[in-house]
Amino acid sequence: MKMIPYSRQDINEADIKAVARVMRSPWLTQGPTIERFEKAIAKKVGAKFAIAFNSGTAALHAAYFAAGIKKGDEVIVPALTFAATANAALYLGATPVFADSDIRSGNMSVADAREKITNRTKAIVPVDYSGRPADLREFRALAKKHKLIFIEDAAQALGASYRGKPVGTQADMTMFSFHPVKSITTGEGGVIVTNSAAYARTLRLFRSHGISKDARTFVKKGHGEWYQEMQVLGFNYRMPEMSAALGESQLKRLDSFIHKRSAAAKRYHKLLANIPNLILPQAGRSHEQPAWHLYPVRLSPEVAHRRDEIFTKLRKAGIGVQVHHVPVHLHHYYEKLAYKKGLCPNAEAFVASEISIPLFPGITLKQQTYIAREIREILARL
Ligand SMILES: *Cc1c(COP(=O)(O)O)cnc(C)c1O
Repeated sequence: MKMIPYSRQDINEADIKAVARVMRSPWLTQGPTIERFEKAIAKKVGAKFAIAFNSGTAALHAAYFAAGIKKGDEVIVPALTFAATANAALYLGATPVFADSDIRSGNMSVADAREKITNRTKAIVPVDYSGRPADLREFRALAKKHKLIFIEDAAQALGASYRGKPVGTQADMTMFSFHPVKSITTGEGGVIVTNSAAYARTLRLFRSHGISKDARTFVKKGHGEWYQEMQVLGFNYRMPEMSAALGESQLKRLDSFIHKRSAAAKRYHKLLANIPNLILPQAGRSHEQPAWHLYPVRLSPEVAHRRDEIFTKLRKAGIGVQVHHVPVHLHHYYEKLAYKKGLCPNAEAFVASEISIPLFPGITLKQQTYIAREIREILARL
């Protein structure tokens, strides 16, 4: 049986043409497309600057670097996220400190994050789990009060809005990912948007070996025109032009993608209503429009211990379910760093009862109806 994936990209002829056009051009990297794509992203979310990277993870690494995060610093991240949010702190020798989740939304709890602040805390990084904006206003106030840098991991939330504005300018720096399962894709890729010219400059430097070609910024003066100056230890995190061309073309359909995802989520709310032991994700609250990256359903405590069995049955029925995510502190690598089970009980309970069911712009009513029927039957037969 062909598996219905939990997510998949939506590629059309215009996307393919845009990529082909770049391949016939003189520029495969560091050309004009990347700059156009960055401008388009910045405009779309209302930010002054956008700096694209070859992955969302590289973008996070750069943002943490630009924030000045270094050895000895602590970075507050949610336990319930993809590992990259925490890994980027480790890359810089800093310590990820895990905050627990709000059990309803899965997003980082403001109260628990507040508890985790110490005099070593440098930055706070809420994640918009499943594409639903975190409590950004509250995190902004918390960051301001404690003089923390506020970075938003909005990898899953491009196209979401919060209190009447697109996600992208609430934090000091916001990251979006362009992995194929996310709101739009560039194959691999990511971006940081910011209103700070200083962050933007450091992000660009970090992306390209830490080498500046702008004579106005040189510390050592009096060189010939050939001179370039390495000013920080950066990486090669550049996005190729083919990816930028795909992103530019995809971005034109972002609104339509979010509209389709949100219509499919609404259909699930109806199709899955009143199934015993099944807890549905909250509908969008009045102050937000989620990007609906995921549709995370949860099992009630009565049947949550049978989650893996239910998961396997759904897979056997051709439904490409997933669990999002392994709580980061419970990854083997993190356990070896002495993080322990019990550290974030809500995040652990959330994930232990969670199943992400297929949701993507091209999902059909027929597929959704089938998925809902299988879930209803599997739970009834337990
Ligand atoms: C996808 C994702 C990332 C990593 O993005 P990549 O582009 O795959 O490197 C980081 N954080 C979260 C929350 C994600 O969902």
